Amino acid sequence: MKAWVLHGINDMKQEAVAEPVLHDGEVLVQVKAAGICSSDISRVYVNGAYHYPIILGHEFSGVTMEGRRVGVFPLLPCFTCDSCRQNRYETCSNYGYIGSRQNGAFAESVAVPKWNLMDLPDTLSFEHAAMLEPASVALHAVKHFDLTNVNTAAVVGNGTIGRLIAKWLNIYGVEKVSVIGRNDNTPQNMDACIEAVGSVDALKRCIDAVRPNGQIVLVGNPNAEFGLEQKLYWQILRKQLILRGSWNGSFRVDWQETMDNIDQLDLDELISHRFSFNELDKAVAMMKNKTERYSKVMIRV
Ligand SMILES: [Zn+2]
Ligand SMILES: [Zn+2]
Repeated sequence: MKAWVLHGINDMKQEAVAEPVLHDGEVLVQVKAAGICSSDISRVYVNGAYHYPIILGHEFSGVTMEGRRVGVFPLLPCFTCDSCRQNRYETCSNYGYIGSRQNGAFAESVAVPKWNLMDLPDTLSFEHAAMLEPASVALHAVKHFDLTNVNTAAVVGNGTIGRLIAKWLNIYGVEKVSVIGRNDNTPQNMDACIEAVGSVDALKRCIDAVRPNGQIVLVGNPNAEFGLEQKLYWQILRKQLILRGSWNGSFRVDWQETMDNIDQLDLDELISHRFSFNELDKAVAMMKNKTERYSKVMIRV
């Protein structure tokens, strides 16, 4: 089959590789649509992967050999740690991951445990199903807030996750939601703020934006060291801020809720680019070099 294989930083090539070998409980999923995550750009160009060679791609949908149309939860829990035993798979202490720790969806087929499959209604397109992952990550972040005291919220970061978070805040009835991009002014006195970039500057803006005793959820994944100045740290203390981290999404709770609300999320609005499988190298280069403004970049396999 055809696959884009990452051999090292800045070294991804399309190759003919053997079809995945299926282990117990796994099925072969023929990939139909795969989104490119900003974390993939970091893997290809900046920080690399856990091991090589590796096929990336963790936001995807496809069809099983039996013809089931499926979405795929990419996290592979250990099922034995304390978190797993409480069904909180996202905080599993020893997980695998399709598309970062083991081969993913930038290929014609991928091996997926049956447990990780989510059947798709006929009305749900493969592209939208490929966005169940980022949409569930966004939902998961929003659910960390105590929204009873939240009427105003800022989202620092206008990438796909930031924009999805804003949509979820609206669905959850937060009256005023501001999405803040790099060049926007930081609003003040907000009840809540989400850091959806993964940079000290974005955290600083969050801490600035939020009122005393306000809430911050951190979801942006930094790709470099993250040092806090004393002044910034003091602000957290003096404002008595509540900070909460968020990682991944809860399977199946968040995924089901995302599927139930998929129309309200208006995902088409977030898909800025579509590339064919053969153009994946062009797609990642465009994202890295920011030669065009993009939000979600979708690969059709
Ligand atoms: Zn991702
Ligand atoms: Zn576990």
